[in-house]
Amino acid sequence: MQVDRNFSYGFSSSRYAGRPKTVRKEAGAATDFAPMRPRQHQINCWMHQLKEIVSVIKTKAYAAQSPTTPLSPFSVERRDPGPTDVQIEILYCGVCHSDIHTARDEWGGTMYPCVPGHEIVGRVSKVGSKVAKFKEGDLAGVGCLVDSCRICESCKAGLEQYCENGFTLTYNSEDKHIGGHTFGGYSKAVVVDQDFVLHVPENLDLKAVAPLLCAGITTYSPLRHWKVGPGKKVGIVGLGGLGHMGVKLAHAMGAHVTLFTTSPGKVEDGKRLGANEVIISKDNAQMAKAANSFDFILDAVSAQHDINAYFNLLKREGTLVQVGAPPLPLPVNVFGLIFKRRNFAGSLIGGIPETQEMLDFCGKHNIVSDIELIPISKVNEAYERMIRSDVKYRFVIDIASLG
Ligand code: NAP
Ligand code: ZN
Ligand code: ZN
Repeated sequence: MQVDRNFSYGFSSSRYAGRPKTVRKEAGAATDFAPMRPRQHQINCWMHQLKEIVSVIKTKAYAAQSPTTPLSPFSVERRDPGPTDVQIEILYCGVCHSDIHTARDEWGGTMYPCVPGHEIVGRVSKVGSKVAKFKEGDLAGVGCLVDSCRICESCKAGLEQYCENGFTLTYNSEDKHIGGHTFGGYSKAVVVDQDFVLHVPENLDLKAVAPLLCAGITTYSPLRHWKVGPGKKVGIVGLGGLGHMGVKLAHAMGAHVTLFTTSPGKVEDGKRLGANEVIISKDNAQMAKAANSFDFILDAVSAQHDINAYFNLLKREGTLVQVGAPPLPLPVNVFGLIFKRRNFAGSLIGGIPETQEMLDFCGKHNIVSDIELIPISKVNEAYERMIRSDVKYRFVIDIASLG
C-alpha cells in the first residue's frame, strides 16, 4: 500500500471529538450548472452532520488552487476505511473535460483546492469488516459518484445519478465523513463505500479501462435508454473522450453509426473506431444531405456550437440527447423541434448497476478507450490540448508518476 501513514492522526481525543481537524472552504457556492451542483448546505451545521469520528490518512495528489492556477502537487486526507468502505490504491485516472470545467470553475461552484478525477481504476488495498463485495488485491473502479441518499425513488431504481436528495460526487461535493469537500482521482488512494465501487473486467487493459468510468457510462446510458441497436441510424457529435466511446459502443450495439466532427484529421480514426460514415459538421453540403435521416443523435461537444443544425438531421420523432455540458446556454430554435415532433433531451452519467452492466458489456465485447498515457506532470498540458480538440482520444494519468 502506497499511502503514507506518517501523517496519520485521529479525532479520538475529547478535544477533537466530533470535529474534523481541518475545515477547508464551505460548500454551497452558487453554480449555474444545476445537475452538477454540490448540495447546498448551511455552513454552520456541518459539525452536527458528522456521523462518525474518523481518523484520516494523507495521500499525495494534484490540485488546482484557483480557477487560474495550474494543477500542482498537493496532499489530501482520506478517511480510514469504515466497516463498509473499500480503500483503493489508484493506478490510473482518466482526464475528463468535466475536470477542466470544474478545475477552472467554468460551471461555477468549484471548491478549492480542487483535486479532479472521476475515471479511477486501481487495486483494493484494504477493506472494512463488513465488506463482502471486494477483497484485498481485487481490481476496482470508481466513477463520478461515491454516495447518494439510497432511499429515494431514483436511488431505489439504481439511478443514483438522479438522486432526489443529492448525490455525493467523487470530487467537489460535501465530504460527509471528514468534513470539507471530496477529492478526486488525481491522487494515490481513495476510500469509497463498497456500494459505489465497481468490479473491473480482468481481461481488459487496465489503463484503457479508466475512461469507461465516466466517458463509457455517460454514452452507454443514453444509448441503452433510447434503445439504440440494429436498424437504428445513430449520430455521435464530437470525437473526444465521450464521443469516441459513443462511436465504439453504438457500433457494438449494432446501430448504423455516423460521426460528426469539426476535425477533418479525425475521419479515418472515426471509421476505425466503428463509424460507418463521417460527416464534417462545418461542411453545409454534407450536413444538408443528411437531413431528416437520424433516429437518435448524441451530442458530446464541450463548447458552444449550433445544436439546431442537428435537430434538422433527425427524422420525425427522432431524439437529440445532450451529454456535452458547455458552460453557457445553447440557443434553441424551437421550430427545429416543433416541425416533425422532434425531442431534445439530456442525460447524466449513469447509475451504479448500469455502470457495472457497461463494464461487463465492455469486457464481453473487448471494448476499451483509445488513450494517451501521461505522467501527472503533463496534466496541465493535457488540458490545453483537450481544449484544442487535440487528444486521441482520452488522456490517462499514470498515477505511479505521483511518486
Ligand atoms: P473532449 O475529450 O475535450 O471532447 C470534446 C469534443 O468536442 C472535441 O474533441 C471536439 O470534437 C468537439 N468540440 C470541441 N470544441 C468544439 C466546438 N467549439 N465546436 C464543435 N465541436 C467542438 O471532452 P469530453 O471529456 O468528451 O467531454 C465532453 C463534454 O461532456 C464536456 O462538456 C463534459 O463536461 C461533458 N460531460 C458530461 C457528462 C454527463 O454526464 N452529461 C459526463 C462527462 C462529461 P471534434 O474534433 O470531433 O469536433
Ligand atoms: Zn467525466
Ligand atoms: Zn437518492
